[in-house]
Amino acid sequence: MECTEEGCDRAAVVELHIPWGDNRTVCAPHARVLGRQDGIVADPNPDGGDELLGD
Ligand SMILES: [Zn+2]
Repeated sequence: MECTEEGCDRAAVVELHIPWGDNRTVCAPHARVLGRQDGIVADPNPDGGDELLGD
């Protein structure tokens, strides 16, 4: 999985939960920048994920 930010091809390692939009999976640098915005929750999302655990 790759970072969803335009022009970025790093591996996505964090899922961002964005209250006003779709969730995004982004690389660590983008997670740091985007995660500073109020309301965004950053969720570590290692390859393979833990989707069976639900949330
Ligand atoms: Zn990125």
